[in-house]
Amino acid sequence: MLPDNTVPFSKLDEKAQELLMAASAGRKQAYVPYSRFAVGAALRCRDEAQTIVAGCNVESCSYPVSICAERTALTKAVSEGKRHFTGLSVVAERVEGRLTSPCGMCRQMVLEFAQDCPVYISSPELDQVLVTTTSRLLPHAFAPPKSSLVLSACRSTTDDCQQ
Ligand SMILES: [Zn+2]
Repeated sequence: MLPDNTVPFSKLDEKAQELLMAASAGRKQAYVPYSRFAVGAALRCRDEAQTIVAGCNVESCSYPVSICAERTALTKAVSEGKRHFTGLSVVAERVEGRLTSPCGMCRQMVLEFAQDCPVYISSPELDQVLVTTTSRLLPHAFAPPKSSLVLSACRSTTDDCQQ
């Protein structure tokens, strides 16, 4: 059974649909020789172009060093100077009928940069979409203090950020 906040893809606005399609495209790049469970994710950046950065899960034969699609997208974006986001989408196969949502590690990492950010979760068919937010995915979170926003805005060297 799907949660109450699940809506048909066709009912979403154009930007949400575009974000989900980017996650779906990202999923096609997944490197998953061990789990065979491909996941795609995409972040919309809060910049003038509303850049979309997509990612996929990348596994390793040393299983723990594998990385999820959400954190791939996030690290790609942050490494390109993008630190503020207005949307996250995730696309993966359903498991026992349930849509696949981000793991706990990804929820924590995404919340570092995107609090109260809309999240759209769907399966590769892009039929039904679970609509939620980053803060709903991780209630009572260990969240960064407001003072760290100064640090996140710092784009200079590490030394410059340590004040
Ligand atoms: Zn994860």
